[in-house]
Amino acid sequence: MRIVLLGAPGSGKGTQAQRLAERSGVPQISTGDLLRAAVARGTPLGLEAKAVMESGRLVDDALVLGMIRERLAEPDARAGFILDGFPRNLVQAAALDGLLAELGQPLDAVVQFEVADAELVRRISGRRTCADCGRVFNVLTSPPPSGTDADCPRTGAPHRLMQRADDNEATVAERLRVYAEKTRPLTEFYRKRGILRVIDATGEVDAVTQRLAASLAARPTAARVRKPAAKRARPRKAQRAAGRRGRAAEPSARRAKSARRKAPARVARKKSRSGPGPKRPGRRRTARRRARR
Ligand SMILES: [Zn+2]
Repeated sequence: MRIVLLGAPGSGKGTQAQRLAERSGVPQISTGDLLRAAVARGTPLGLEAKAVMESGRLVDDALVLGMIRERLAEPDARAGFILDGFPRNLVQAAALDGLLAELGQPLDAVVQFEVADAELVRRISGRRTCADCGRVFNVLTSPPPSGTDADCPRTGAPHRLMQRADDNEATVAERLRVYAEKTRPLTEFYRKRGILRVIDATGEVDAVTQRLAASLAARPTAARVRKPAAKRARPRKAQRAAGRRGRAAEPSARRAKSARRKAPARVARKKSRSGPGPKRPGRRRTARRRARR
């Protein structure tokens, strides 16, 4: 089982990734955890990441991908993995594709967690983390337990709840905007590959867990929409991008070839009646476009 969970901040994919990992026995790979672990262990990539972070810069995709590669080489990832929080944009998705193709471990499924923005804001602004044990609670949806097992396993005192600096309503709107702009397009990216599944991630955590399991057992969402999507005329930019990937472009190349084979007969018939038709310039354009690829 090699899967990616996609969803906005607050969509609950981290919680579900954790549950799925426990149930299926394959590791949950979150890039935040990877980064922290690599830095803590002082691996070559970790030291590099530490230097980058200390200089106030963001860790780049190549470094993160290197850590994912290292993580996937560990024995527990042989049966698969659940990626949570990566990829976040199309560049990362393409890079991940390349890495997994190289390893001969392509993704089986990508699950998109759907939650309305208003609900995301509510969930995120209720989120609190215990400063001592790191457990995550939500004062609105999953408050820390009261009673006998209410105490923090680290201190024996009640959990010390803190709000993450970027979990307030002012920054949530910006995080959702970035998500819509950068991460949302991944839905289409994976739909075209035929591995996307979409689930309703609102409601009880247990209900979402069931929906996730059902969606992984079912056929991908893309199976139904793939054909019409391929027939639709794509903008030229997308066609070129597809050409670079050298996959989705194939059918149209084949179409062009068969069009060339058929064309002479049609042109000849037309010629005998009304001379050369306006077809030719169009064909030359196609040839030029082909050459540019
Ligand atoms: Zn605690």
